[in-house]
Amino acid sequence: MVCENDIKKFTNFVSCYNNFIIVGHKGPDGDCLCSTIALADLLNRMGKQAFLVSAGPFVKEETLIFEKHFTSEVPDLDKNDSAVIIADCSELHRLGNVADSVADYPRFIIDHHKTADASEDFSIIRPKSPATCFLVQLIYEKIVGKIPENIAKVLFFGLCTDSGFFRYLEDDSGPIFEAASRLVQSGANPKRTYGIISSGKPAESRKWLGEMFSRMEFLFDDKLICICEEEDVAKRFGSNNRDTATLYDQLLCIKGVEAVLFIRQDDREPSISVSSFRSVEHFDVSAIAAELGGGGHKNAAGLSLNCTIEEAKSRILNVAKDFFDKNRNSPLKS
Ligand code: 5GP
Ligand code: MN
Repeated sequence: MVCENDIKKFTNFVSCYNNFIIVGHKGPDGDCLCSTIALADLLNRMGKQAFLVSAGPFVKEETLIFEKHFTSEVPDLDKNDSAVIIADCSELHRLGNVADSVADYPRFIIDHHKTADASEDFSIIRPKSPATCFLVQLIYEKIVGKIPENIAKVLFFGLCTDSGFFRYLEDDSGPIFEAASRLVQSGANPKRTYGIISSGKPAESRKWLGEMFSRMEFLFDDKLICICEEEDVAKRFGSNNRDTATLYDQLLCIKGVEAVLFIRQDDREPSISVSSFRSVEHFDVSAIAAELGGGGHKNAAGLSLNCTIEEAKSRILNVAKDFFDKNRNSPLKS
């Protein structure tokens, strides 16, 4: 997945500068935060200064423990001796409000999104990787060797969050389990990691789930469930009670459901609507998101639109209907 040439490309890039801003996408998830933390450690071991930057917001419950490592203030560095490494993201605009401040630095991208532009010269982009953390682990091992305990725990956490604790992996994932095994041998603890990711939720977050279940709308022959989190609901529960991971799990297990669409307002900019897609099996929701300027993976994708929730819903469903028509003869149906 990561070859000698990739490592050469990366080490050559790193050798040109002394300072690095390391940044992932806005609204970071576990994979985004953990891959950047591990990269900062790698850069330090290569004798470089690393600054961890994130635009936030830190909303997902399991990400709060990592918030202290990040700043949203981009340091003002010597442009001749500094560069940016972007992880778990390929588009500058997805860095959120830190994008402008990092735009002028040379950059290297490490990402695994299906919709990423793989033609970037300074990049390692592997859509087949289940997590950016997996790519960072391979890079780290090739440059440093055995992963130290603190970084093994971080990389394992990121791998678990993006792979749904290995549930999204298929029969070609032997090398990923081997890599996970190395992390566990270095001190990562699967039971404890699962505990951190899936427990400690506020009771209100269960009520939020109840509210969302009551808003399910079945569309396209009941193959798509659409849920809108209206402004009043978002205000009532607060963004920290929005346990979307559990919501998607509970909806995708319904017989005949192929995809879920969840639409809400942006937590910081109410004029923007944020939409998330999840799907099962062969249904590629990243293609729907990409048609509207978003992107992601085959089974998990998203997009932001500068319009109301209602308008976003109508625009997205208008695009989605063709995909559901096409999908009529999909292997899922037979
Ligand atoms: P989520 O629904 O968790 O926000 O996002 C699902 C997946 O789609 C994540 O991998 C996320 O990075 C990606 N994603 C979400 N929104 C966008 C977007 O606007 N553009 C792109 N390229 N990817 C997105
Ligand atoms: Mn990721």
